[in-house]
Amino acid sequence: MLGLLAACAVPDPSAPPARLGLDPFYRQYRDAEGIPVVASEKPPAAALDRARDIIDGMLAHRPDLRDALIARGYRVAVIAEDEALLDLPEHRHWTKPPPDDPRLTRCEKLHYEERIGQLSDREYWDQRARAIAGPTTTAAAEDLLGLRSSRWYGETIFVHEFAHNVLLAAKVADPALYAQVEQAYVHARETGLWKDEYTATTIDEYWAEGSQFWFNSNRLQVFSGQRILSDDDLKAYDPALYAALASAYGTVHRLSADPFYMAEARIPPGPIPENTAEVC
Ligand SMILES: [Zn+2]
Repeated sequence: MLGLLAACAVPDPSAPPARLGLDPFYRQYRDAEGIPVVASEKPPAAALDRARDIIDGMLAHRPDLRDALIARGYRVAVIAEDEALLDLPEHRHWTKPPPDDPRLTRCEKLHYEERIGQLSDREYWDQRARAIAGPTTTAAAEDLLGLRSSRWYGETIFVHEFAHNVLLAAKVADPALYAQVEQAYVHARETGLWKDEYTATTIDEYWAEGSQFWFNSNRLQVFSGQRILSDDDLKAYDPALYAALASAYGTVHRLSADPFYMAEARIPPGPIPENTAEVC
């Protein structure tokens, strides 16, 4: 009888279900209404909870965009402070971007050989990022928990990365919204908005940085006499982007699990800089 009971034991709801077919590397699991959040045994459970809640907040207005991500098998993997992007089974084979990769920033293109050419694939990725969008979107525990040890303390990088997924979902599930973002981006480039900021790199970064301002957890950007910090600043500066973001996110400007929502840390200490774009 005891044996039978053990055989019928309910699976641990915090372990990844077998149907996901994941590498045994993954030991923790949360369900963001159909989007799995997974991790090794290392990250704190609270980091997975935060990731789940931020996903739920960002998709609350658009179940169709959530469905598009579920249909494509998107999931989120959380890494611990002593783990790196290339520790994940899905990322182990990654190589560094070539010099003509369109995702390189303005400054990376200018200084490719010193900044990237001399690094190994592993060294490049360890320096470049601890979070990334895509089918295995990755988030760092220290970012989700808002810890001082975060390399990008003062902004929530996971909101940025998951916003990339939202735009991908719009591209397949709501082409009209995607076209609206394209129009806003072309207008921004033509009229010199977001001059030299990371925001202007590609349509994807434009959308993701805009999403961070929408949710009031991006670091201050200053350029051409403009200071952009809040959703109100965004609305005044780039109303076309704001309108597109509203189509995706509705009227909510706060993610309850977001550690940097309206945080003082969004503003760098000391005098306000005249320009926050990278100089290179
Ligand atoms: Zn990005």
